[in-house]
Amino acid sequence: MTHVYDLHCHSLASDGALSPTALVQRAQQNGVTALALTDHDTTAGLAEAQACATAIGLHFIPGIELSTNWENKCFHIVGLGIDPNYPPLAEATHNLQTTRLERAEQIALKLEKKQIFGAFEAVKEAAGEGMITRTHFADFLLSQFHVSTQQEAFDRYLAKGKPAYVSTSWADLSQAVSWITEAGGVAVLAHPLRYKLTANWIRRLLTEFKKVGGQGIEVITSRMNPDEIRVATDYALRFDLVGSVGSDFHNATNPYVELGRLAPLPDKVKPVWDLLTLNHE
Ligand code: AMP
Ligand code: MN
Ligand code: MN
Ligand code: MN
Repeated sequence: MTHVYDLHCHSLASDGALSPTALVQRAQQNGVTALALTDHDTTAGLAEAQACATAIGLHFIPGIELSTNWENKCFHIVGLGIDPNYPPLAEATHNLQTTRLERAEQIALKLEKKQIFGAFEAVKEAAGEGMITRTHFADFLLSQFHVSTQQEAFDRYLAKGKPAYVSTSWADLSQAVSWITEAGGVAVLAHPLRYKLTANWIRRLLTEFKKVGGQGIEVITSRMNPDEIRVATDYALRFDLVGSVGSDFHNATNPYVELGRLAPLPDKVKPVWDLLTLNHE
């Protein structure tokens, strides 16, 4: 059976706006037949998403998007088909919750220096049991009228080099890839064009990623133009990586980032789903 895939999205367990149930339902309404939930550094939403997917007859792939460091840069690695109960992975996500909580305190202190108060309490409340992310800070800044868009919150306060940026030590790239592969999953470099790397950096990154066990790269994500798809396709072919497709959906505010709204994976790229075992097949 051929599926309509979306292998990258977020729920309330991290910085998405929808519950795992609502996300799975929305995916199905949009024609997606195989969905992976990939929240930032957490697997907390997977059980609910799986239960809903089973109930409504959608194929579900348990996933995660791990924040990693390599050479002082931050890269996002999507893990697909993971066992969330694999102890080292479960321990890692547990520790990352603390990392994110402490980082949030530091971000809030930096905002206080800019006379913006109450951020920590607000993001904690908004994230609830889920992971606290910079998106929560952006939403707080927006709600308090310090900025007029989420993008402006990043541009003025939260992005690297801005007053409330906190450099965080995430998992090593190689460590994160190991957690994913040992948990039975496939490690995929997320949104490769978003890091704004030179050709030389990309070559070094993908060489290292392959060396430590990375197997895939997102060739199709939201809002890619044909030139960008060609570039990502070229990376997949040159480095012998399988290709993934994922919207990186967070919420319904941007009509160009929508579950299942994705260009097809180019024929010449080996699809990541050849490496995934889907239920009921
Ligand atoms: P964090 O993992 O806490 O650093 O938060 C990263 C999240 O913030 C990303 O997954 C995006 O959802 C969001 N984000 C990062 N940069 C931007 C940006 N420039 N504009 C809007 N959202 C962003
Ligand atoms: Mn996010
Ligand atoms: Mn990401
Ligand atoms: Mn994402």
